[in-house]
Amino acid sequence: MGIQKKRMFCEEEVRMVLAERQTPNHILHLLLSVVTAGFWLPVWFLVALLGSGSYKCPSCGARVLGYVPKKYKQQMAKAPSS
Ligand SMILES: [Zn+2]
Repeated sequence: MGIQKKRMFCEEEVRMVLAERQTPNHILHLLLSVVTAGFWLPVWFLVALLGSGSYKCPSCGARVLGYVPKKYKQQMAKAPSS
């Protein structure tokens, strides 16, 4: 399993975080497809389609947003940057 990182907004902590999500191990699936003479391909396809989990906050584990909701923008503008 690989890990993908992206800068996203954590609503729990009201701050930007480097969110992480698990990605499928394509090398492993390629090997399995070769070993099974292609029978594993549909599985690989489904995992690639559905296997990438959603981004999670690395510090509190909450789901994160790809944008900062307006109500937090003002709050973050006021809060002194740590
Ligand atoms: Zn968080």
